[in-house]
Amino acid sequence: MLCGDIYFKLMHKGSLKNKLICRFALNTSFIIDNWYEFSKNTVDPDSLIKDDRFSEDFKIDCYFRDFCNTCNSSIPLERLCIRCTNEMESEIKSWKIIRNIIDVLLLYINFIIILFIESSLSKIWRRSLY
Ligand SMILES: [Zn+2]
Repeated sequence: MLCGDIYFKLMHKGSLKNKLICRFALNTSFIIDNWYEFSKNTVDPDSLIKDDRFSEDFKIDCYFRDFCNTCNSSIPLERLCIRCTNEMESEIKSWKIIRNIIDVLLLYINFIIILFIESSLSKIWRRSLY
């Protein structure tokens, strides 16, 4: 099962040594319909863009197969099946930490907005008194 950040290296198998052609990475969260495409512009190194050994329409198609037929990326973490929950244990912990950080940030933003609105209303109220 692949989950999270995936890093690929495309190598040329030489007779003396293997040579790096390019490398590319993605996070499984960005895979849509079990497919992800890399173009000449989205792989490393950048020098590949200028390398005329690679055509302008150079691309790498990555196809994936579902690990589970029940769960998908839009299902809340709490509703994943037992098999996915067990496989994604460390990933789920990371996502919960990220969600907690976002919740705290949203709470803080809401607090700032309320303070701003109260301050504005207070000014309007004071102006209306005079
Ligand atoms: Zn599942």
